[in-house]
Amino acid sequence: MTVGLPRRLALVAEPRPGESFASWVDRMAVRNGCPPWTMAEALGLDVGGSSDVRSLAYGVVTTAETCRAIEAATGVSAEIVRGMHLEVFDGSAVDLAGVRVGDKESVRRAEGCEWVRLFGSRACPKCLAASNGVWPVWWKLGWAAVCPAHRMLLVDQCPRCRVHLRRGAAGQPGRLSRSRMPAPLRCGALLSGAVCDQPIPQINTGAVSNKLADQQRLVLEVETRRRPALIAGQVVSAGQWFAVLKATAMLIRLGVPEVLPLLDAARDGQGALAAEAAGQRWNRASAH
Ligand SMILES: [Zn+2]
Ligand SMILES: [Zn+2]
Repeated sequence: MTVGLPRRLALVAEPRPGESFASWVDRMAVRNGCPPWTMAEALGLDVGGSSDVRSLAYGVVTTAETCRAIEAATGVSAEIVRGMHLEVFDGSAVDLAGVRVGDKESVRRAEGCEWVRLFGSRACPKCLAASNGVWPVWWKLGWAAVCPAHRMLLVDQCPRCRVHLRRGAAGQPGRLSRSRMPAPLRCGALLSGAVCDQPIPQINTGAVSNKLADQQRLVLEVETRRRPALIAGQVVSAGQWFAVLKATAMLIRLGVPEVLPLLDAARDGQGALAAEAAGQRWNRASAH
């Protein structure tokens, strides 16, 4: 373990608004010409002996000590560092109350019951190309179905290697590599020694209706608490709102599509997205 705070790094990539922690560390690694494990160590993460993202709760939750170390190394504030972790959605789209850094089982439990991809991500090929490889943290949520800016379905799996984006092989989270440079614009899945070099901006994906794109925007606003959560005209907590959305998606999966017009009539904007979530692309099983 390192004693004291890390040294200030000469080269710092500015975090972009809404960027995920893994995306930022990858871009920092590219900027500094080192693999992600080395970068994470330089940022003060406790990677000694372990590159296991579950033990680190990597990108999921962080600690005050890690935030202090990252601020010393980069000048990036604790508030911004926390905002890059999934804990920014705790209590709205996800419940991460029991998740602790260093407690692998607590991370596994959250993976089992929350509608989120802790160590993977969906992606909009056009957004990635335009931002030169910035991955927003909301793309990890089970409710991330479409890109509201481009009105396209987010990509879930690499068409070349069939691995879910940003996952390791066999459905296991990838480890922080000690030898390979990250490639923010490529699939990068490691398969029996070979790296998949599929450029993500070249992956084709389907267009969606304006209605679905608008609903995705609304869900994002509730997730980030920029909009009050309403159910049938009543203000509820963001957590309650997502519980209803989840329940609706389950009813639709069970074959009770009659709930859809009811939701749309109440103008809660949950119907179409719940239907999307109920489809097999967006269910909980696909998060593994
Ligand atoms: Zn996009
Ligand atoms: Zn691939």
